Amino acid sequence: MRIMVHKYGGTSVKGLERMRLVLDRVRKSHALGYKMVVALSAMSGETNRLLTQAREFSADPDPAELDVLVTTGEQVSVALFTMLAKDAGLRARSLLGHQIPITTNSNVTRARIMEIDAPRIKAMLEDYDLLVVAGFQGVDCHGRVTTLGRGGSDTTGVALAAALSAEVCEIYTDVNGVYTTDPNLCRTARKLDRITYDEMLELSSQGAKVLQIRSVEFAKKFNVPVRVRSTFSDDPGTLVTAEDTEMEDVLVSGIAYDKDQCRITVRNVMDRPGVAAAIFSPIAEAGILVDMIIQNTGRDGRTDMTFTISRAHLDRTMAILDSLRPVIGAEDIQHDVNVCKVSVIGVGMRSHSGVASTMFTLMKKENINILMIATSEIKITCLIEEKYLELAVRTLHDAFGLAEGPAKACA
Ligand code: ADP
Ligand code: ASP
Ligand code: MG
Repeated sequence: MRIMVHKYGGTSVKGLERMRLVLDRVRKSHALGYKMVVALSAMSGETNRLLTQAREFSADPDPAELDVLVTTGEQVSVALFTMLAKDAGLRARSLLGHQIPITTNSNVTRARIMEIDAPRIKAMLEDYDLLVVAGFQGVDCHGRVTTLGRGGSDTTGVALAAALSAEVCEIYTDVNGVYTTDPNLCRTARKLDRITYDEMLELSSQGAKVLQIRSVEFAKKFNVPVRVRSTFSDDPGTLVTAEDTEMEDVLVSGIAYDKDQCRITVRNVMDRPGVAAAIFSPIAEAGILVDMIIQNTGRDGRTDMTFTISRAHLDRTMAILDSLRPVIGAEDIQHDVNVCKVSVIGVGMRSHSGVASTMFTLMKKENINILMIATSEIKITCLIEEKYLELAVRTLHDAFGLAEGPAKACA
C-alpha cells in the first residue's frame, strides 16, 4: 500500500472555497494511486479566538480544560472537510486524536507523541481512500485530551508519515516553501529548494513558525522527506532532507526571529554552588522552558543571573522567583518584554569562522545594541530590543547575500 500524508494549515482550511482547493489537491494525489492520510489544522484565527475566550471565563484557565477547548477547532475542520470529500465520491472518514489513538504524554498544552496505532490506521485504509485526522491533538494514558503545542498540526502530519512509512509528507501552508527568512517580514527573502533537517531544526527552534520544531525532529529521526509548499500555487516548494556535501558549502542559509521573548535579570544573588540549581530547578518543575542564560562574573560574593523565557510564562516565573528570594538572596528582580531574538543559521558555520563577528559588526553599523548572545555549532543568536527586529532581519539577510543566492563558504 502506497501512502501519502498531507497537512493543511489554518489559512488553507478557512472556509468552503479554500477547502475545495484542498480537496482538489487530495484527489490529485489519490489519483496517482496513493491512500491518503490528511491532517488538518483549525481554521486560522480559531485557536487564538478560543484561547482569548478562555481568558474571559477564567483569569488563569486550567491547562487541561484549555486543551479540551482548543481541540474543538480541529474537530470542526475535519468534520466539514470529510463531508466535502464524501460528497465528491471519496471513501473518507474523520478521525480525532483519541480515536486512532495518537497517544501522548500528559504534559497538557505541549504534549509529546509517544505512540501512534499505525496498524489500526493501515487496516482502516483497506476500507477508505482518505482518512482525515485532526491535527494538534492526542490523548494521554488516562484518556485525557492533550495538545502538541502551537503549530502542532505539523507534528501530527510528520509523525503520521513516520508511523505509516509514507513516501512523503507534504506540508501545505500560505507561503511557497521555506525561505531564507520570513517572506512576510522581508521582501527580498528567497525560497529555498532544499534545506537540511539540522538547519530546519535551528530555524524552527529560533522562531520560524513555518514548521513546528517537533515535526522536524520526527522527520530527522525517521528520515521522513518533508515538502513544504503552498496550497495556493503549484510551486514545488522546499524539500527538507538529510545533508549532502553540496549543502555543506552553504555558509548561511537563513535568518530567524522570535518575538516571544522576555528577559529576566535576578540581581545580586549569592555567588555560591547551588544557586543556579536553586533558581532554575523550580522553574523547570513548573514546566517553563528557559532559553538563553547568562551568569555574570561574581563580585563581593554576589552575581547577576539573566535569562529569557516565553512571554506567556512571565507571571508564573516572577511568582516563583519571588518565593525564592530568601533562598537565593536576590536583591532585585527585573523583567523586560520589549526584546526579541534574531538568529543567523547555516551548516557551513561548522567549518568556517567569521560569521559571528560579521553579525556583530552589522549590528554595530545599524546602532543596534546586543543584549545577550548565544551560539551553537550552526547558529548565532542575539537578543535585541524588539523595535529593531525588522531592521536587524533585513540587514542580516541582505548583508549575508541571502537575497541573491546561497552565501558560499570560501575554502
Ligand atoms: P500554517 O497555518 O499553514 O501552519 P503558519 O502561520 O504556522 O502556517 O506558518 C507559515 C508562516 O511562517 C508564513 O506565513 C511565514 O510568515 C512564517 N515564516 C517564518 N519564517 C519563515 C521562513 N523562513 N520561511 C517561510 N515562512 C516563514
Ligand atoms: N491550531 C493549532 C495552532 O493554531 C495547531 C496548528 O495549527 O498547527 O497552533
Ligand atoms: Mg503552523
